[in-house]
Amino acid sequence: MNNIQDILREYELIREKNKEDLAQRKQALYSKFPRLKDIEKEMVKLGIDITRAILNKANSADELLEQLKKHQMDLKIEKAEILSSNNYPIDYLEPRYKCKKCKDTGYMDRVKCSCLIQKEIACLYQQSNLGENVKNENFDQFRLDYYSDEKNESGCSPMYNMKNIYMNCIRFVQDFDNQNTNLLFIGNPGLGKTFLCNSIAKYLLEQGKSVIYQVSSELIDLVRKYKFDFDNETNNSAGINELYNCDLLIIDDLGTENPTQFSGLVIYSILNKRLLNNKKTIISTNLNTDEIMKSYSERIYSRLFGNFNMYKFFGEDIRLKRHNM
Ligand SMILES: [Zn+2]
Repeated sequence: MNNIQDILREYELIREKNKEDLAQRKQALYSKFPRLKDIEKEMVKLGIDITRAILNKANSADELLEQLKKHQMDLKIEKAEILSSNNYPIDYLEPRYKCKKCKDTGYMDRVKCSCLIQKEIACLYQQSNLGENVKNENFDQFRLDYYSDEKNESGCSPMYNMKNIYMNCIRFVQDFDNQNTNLLFIGNPGLGKTFLCNSIAKYLLEQGKSVIYQVSSELIDLVRKYKFDFDNETNNSAGINELYNCDLLIIDDLGTENPTQFSGLVIYSILNKRLLNNKKTIISTNLNTDEIMKSYSERIYSRLFGNFNMYKFFGEDIRLKRHNM
């Protein structure tokens, strides 16, 4: 899938399939319960009568309108009773949308639905990578017992520390719309930073939020291609704009990108615009705070330290345990 036409064609196919499925369900049920077919006919006719009555309001059609609406309600109830007494769900003869918000059109009042934005994002960022990861990496699979409960010199164990981070991540997603926090995950590889990033992404994607998850080096490459390679197929400006506008941007492995003036500029402009737009960002990095200050300009690290809640991951690499258990 390369462009919006392909995506919209996909919606069209979904709608066609919806229609066919509904027609099949109706056909099967109408031959079993002919009364349902009559009800549908009556409902269509009633719909027309009600519109007429509303248009004729001048002729004091209020009473008539009320009668028609009552009749409509009676029919709905009768239909629901037939269905439920025969062990069908009462919405069995309603269309089934993948996205109830836009009814699989991709738009609501000409504004792009979050499901469409998410598809554009997936197109550009090959979110399928994330798709594979999140199958196994989500909050339910998180194992605190992989972390040692031995306290360090400051009296805190890796397990206790992780519990705190885990709880804050849950709070972050559950209260997503009502807060304005950014998260900065710092620590050595193999301590669960990416796991938690994936868990957060999965949770929010399921809520219909637009989420971009990208490893820092790939993110810089994408923007570079977009800026300098105009013929490239990935030249998807809507997708690039989402770096600034999506509900959540997750930059994994900050510091693994090739540090150039260009990469610094990209990171700064993304961070800065998202902060100005009140858009939330999560950054994870293997660098410690000193290394961050050495690797990035002051305007970048001042934003990281000033506008992000920092969580330090420590302890032993848990990847071995995850494979052995
Ligand atoms: Zn939608």
